[in-house]
Amino acid sequence: MKIYNSLTKKKEEFIPIEKDNVKMYACGITVYDDSHIGHARASITYDMICCYLRFLGYKVKFVRNYTDVDDKIIAKANALNMNALDYSEARIKEAEKDFERLGADFPDVKVKASENIDNIIDFVSKLIEKGYAYSTEKGDVYYSVKKFKDYGKLSNINTDDLLNGVRKDVEEGKRDPLDFAVWKSAKAGEISWKSPWGEGRPGWHIECSCMVLHNLGETIDIHGGGKDLIFPHHENEIAQSEALTGKPLANYWIHNGLVKINGQKMSKSLGNGLTIKQALDLYNPEVIRYAIISKNYSSDIDLGESEFVLAEQHIYYFYNTLNSIDKFLSENTSMKEVKNEVADNIEAKFREAMDDDFNTPVAIANLFAVFKYVNNLLKDNKVTSDEKAYILNKIKSEIVRCYNVIGIFKENVLDLIDDLKNKYIVKLGLEIAEIEKKVQDRADAKLGKNYELADEIRNELDKKGIILNDSKNGTTWDIKELYVAI
Ligand SMILES: [Zn+2]
Repeated sequence: MKIYNSLTKKKEEFIPIEKDNVKMYACGITVYDDSHIGHARASITYDMICCYLRFLGYKVKFVRNYTDVDDKIIAKANALNMNALDYSEARIKEAEKDFERLGADFPDVKVKASENIDNIIDFVSKLIEKGYAYSTEKGDVYYSVKKFKDYGKLSNINTDDLLNGVRKDVEEGKRDPLDFAVWKSAKAGEISWKSPWGEGRPGWHIECSCMVLHNLGETIDIHGGGKDLIFPHHENEIAQSEALTGKPLANYWIHNGLVKINGQKMSKSLGNGLTIKQALDLYNPEVIRYAIISKNYSSDIDLGESEFVLAEQHIYYFYNTLNSIDKFLSENTSMKEVKNEVADNIEAKFREAMDDDFNTPVAIANLFAVFKYVNNLLKDNKVTSDEKAYILNKIKSEIVRCYNVIGIFKENVLDLIDDLKNKYIVKLGLEIAEIEKKVQDRADAKLGKNYELADEIRNELDKKGIILNDSKNGTTWDIKELYVAI
């Protein structure tokens, strides 16, 4: 398997430190507000990577953090007259509910900064002992960036260029504008802990270095996060951890791309943010997972309404095809084993795509090819029904087994179809009983050879967004917007 490593800027063969075990860490969210669709993307991405590694047979220990102490959290809690940790605990509960509803919450260990204060103090003390950090009279502790010769190796940032971009009016006691805080002295009204440098709290970057070390060890296999974290967060994590241990922090750095909404970066001021809660009110969880996973994890993606509608159309097509398989299998119970190139190669093709840096778009393209084959096979009279039953049964079970790994085909087939259909019925301002009555009226008109009336009813329904499919078994109706896309 090959992974694009942000550290070497190359696609590299994945070789874990221990043959069968993978240690993986992903930076989680800072819980000062509702989680948004960008957080959903990161969560879905690392869940997918973790699940795929397990699918390949690795034992994975996956750790993700919650940043529960930070300036924004303190400001929010103060505004609400709440204790900062009570506030962040409540936000974590909300975030977990969102992730659970989304079906994207797979870490084995979830860690919080506030529960690692002793470990953080120990880490900072050792950095001071080794000469990589210094405390100020005020009680802040800074990391000396210039002491770490490899600084910039992940982000390719040059410290001279960086100096031009930073504020020169440095904080009291800070020796170099490039230095960053690993421990912050307490200001009035802020949550704080006792430390050798006085009351204070950890800086942001130190928590991840510390929690990686305590939960996974000195060098881990995979470290992930959004690409907006490459600098300064991940660069600083490397500086802290590698200064302390003298060993690489992570062998593979994976960064997921960012999410835009209708071509624009999500921002409070633009008012175009989409929280996970809002997305779940609008779309089925599987539709959200599919909209995210159908794009390459490393690209920036747009998640406007049109992307979700497209995802609904694809998922609707997939589930309707699975439903056709189910119907066929319920009517044709005898099976005859037969070789079939499509059914026999689903896993191999899935692995080929995923082994290439988790290339989910190719895996999805393969899925379309399989489903096209299934729909043709269902209509093919040259294949005997017992052979067809065997092939279709195998295709369905292989598809569900493989694609579950990337978070799709996890819903009940009929429930998902109904969920999407009902959503569009409401959107179109229609009622199922009303549509079914019209379908019956048209059947009666046809029976009475009143073809003019039958056509009129079809056109009327078409204008309302409903299409009819006639077959020898009668007429079925469907939602035009969901159905016609494929
Ligand atoms: Zn982090």
